[in-house]
Amino acid sequence: MELISGKEISGQIYEEIKERLAKIEGDKPNLVVILVGDDPASQVYVGMKEKKTKELGMRGQVFRLPAETTQEELHEKIQELNADPDVNGILLQLPLPKHLDAKKAIEHISPDKDVDGLHYVNVGKLHLGEDCFIPCTPYGIIQMLERKGVEIEGKHAVVIGRSNLVGKPIARLLEQRNATVSICHSRTKNLEKFTLDADILVVAVGRPQVIKANQVKEGAVVIDVGINRVDGKLVGDVDFNSVKEKASMITPVPGGVGPMTICMLMYNTVRAYDIQRN
Ligand code: NAP
Repeated sequence: MELISGKEISGQIYEEIKERLAKIEGDKPNLVVILVGDDPASQVYVGMKEKKTKELGMRGQVFRLPAETTQEELHEKIQELNADPDVNGILLQLPLPKHLDAKKAIEHISPDKDVDGLHYVNVGKLHLGEDCFIPCTPYGIIQMLERKGVEIEGKHAVVIGRSNLVGKPIARLLEQRNATVSICHSRTKNLEKFTLDADILVVAVGRPQVIKANQVKEGAVVIDVGINRVDGKLVGDVDFNSVKEKASMITPVPGGVGPMTICMLMYNTVRAYDIQRN
């Protein structure tokens, strides 16, 4: 079994980003994060993004808006950032407080600055196989597979989970690379029928260690997207200790897909800068 380390692969991509940044004279790419309210997990994620932009020598700004911000006020802030040529990427940290509609707010972000790839223009382009901002987690998974030399074409890829954030886009990206893709979800009957046939198994369910060794084909490549906290410890959606005995390659949690997500956000921001400047 070979470990697919997100730390290692994101490290390679950060080096490439630094090389690109070194060639930029003057102001570096600028990522703006909007954080509404005081959700503790979101504060941590935003802090990580701020730290990473600084480490890379990019510019990063966080707009912290109060929890009682109205939908209109949020849209106004987004529009102000859309119009600011000094802002290259805009990320709206989710989840938003309950009274706010995230979908509506995301629709207000300019597709050219939508570095999270969640605006329907980017979602539609991804669906059509056109150049676009690809959501960071699925993009990171594709980077892991490609940089590890995993053959995708002609393979049976099984994705468990159909969220807009992970399941749907990763299924599309795998299909575009000529995998035969099955998408499973909570209503799938006889899940094992699919998982046991998977050459590439992507698990994005959000339930701790639900996928066990007896559900995995010998030699499969297993990508565990899940992040669950159990007894103060982070675990994935895959039972790593048993599944690693069967998989040919597997991502750990932590240190697998997680580090790739923030890495691809930085990558998308530099790309946004390049597109806007040229
Ligand atoms: P989500 O929106 O809750 O979607 C979960 C999906 O799993 C749904 O499609 C659901 O089916 C399906 N599902 C639930 N229980 C199932 C079961 N028993 N069998 C088969 N399918 C089942 O979650 P998400 O946003 O995609 O995230 C999934 C996991 O990835 C979470 O642990 C999240 O924290 C993690 N995550 C990690 C990163 C990272 O950077 N590493 C980024 C994003 C998310 P239905 O559609 O039928 O309800």
